[in-house]
Amino acid sequence: MIAENVQNIEEILKKTCLQHGRARSEITLIAVSKTFGADAVAEAHSAGIVDFGENYVQEVTGKRLELLNRDLRWHFIGHLQTNKVKYIAEWVHMVHSVDSHSLAAELDKRCGKAGRVLDVLIEVNTSEEATKFGVRPAEALSLIASAAQLPHLRVKGLMTIGPFTDDKSATRASFRTLREIFAEANRTNITPQPMTELSMGMSHDFPEAIAEGSTMVRIGTAIFGSRTYPTP
Ligand SMILES: *Cc1c(COP(=O)(O)O)cnc(C)c1O
Repeated sequence: MIAENVQNIEEILKKTCLQHGRARSEITLIAVSKTFGADAVAEAHSAGIVDFGENYVQEVTGKRLELLNRDLRWHFIGHLQTNKVKYIAEWVHMVHSVDSHSLAAELDKRCGKAGRVLDVLIEVNTSEEATKFGVRPAEALSLIASAAQLPHLRVKGLMTIGPFTDDKSATRASFRTLREIFAEANRTNITPQPMTELSMGMSHDFPEAIAEGSTMVRIGTAIFGSRTYPTP
């Protein structure tokens, strides 16, 4: 089932890239495995996926330990509390959800202790929905600039979550906002190296994201099926 879904997503990715003059190799497919067990991750890995996205520190920490025999890259894509940074700083591949300077500073401090430099993305709340995390578009450039000064972080790009809507034009507008902030940051050289990554697009809106220049799509449901959360 998972292998079939991966194949199906691959086909849509290829088609969408072709439609928009993009190369499939420009886009990293991240399988979002939150709420699914290590067995599901192993199945996706066997189907060719190496990048996995997770939202919860405790969950990803456990899964990683169960899967140490596999060569996986763990992307942290959920809201990250400063006091949890220490649990993931040594091994996480990329953090997509940096939304404050205090979080960036804590990541920098912990990565310094671990003797590494970490790739991060700045999360922007492009739809300005009150329930969402992420820096507001108006404050994005200043956070990019301040995070880029930290010696143990490399600000590789930006991340956003599209609006919760079926309105494709609103979705496109949100992704376009991210691309415009990205272009402006690169035009003004506020990072030591130009940013290269736009993490945008989920199961229901990744074709729109690719049309707007996404380089990383984060796909959960379309690979693993729908999530059931434990009831409290
Ligand atoms: C859960 C999640 C995804 C995956 O969403 P699907 O709709 O299941 O593809 C992507 N990005 C973030 C930040 C998420 O929290």
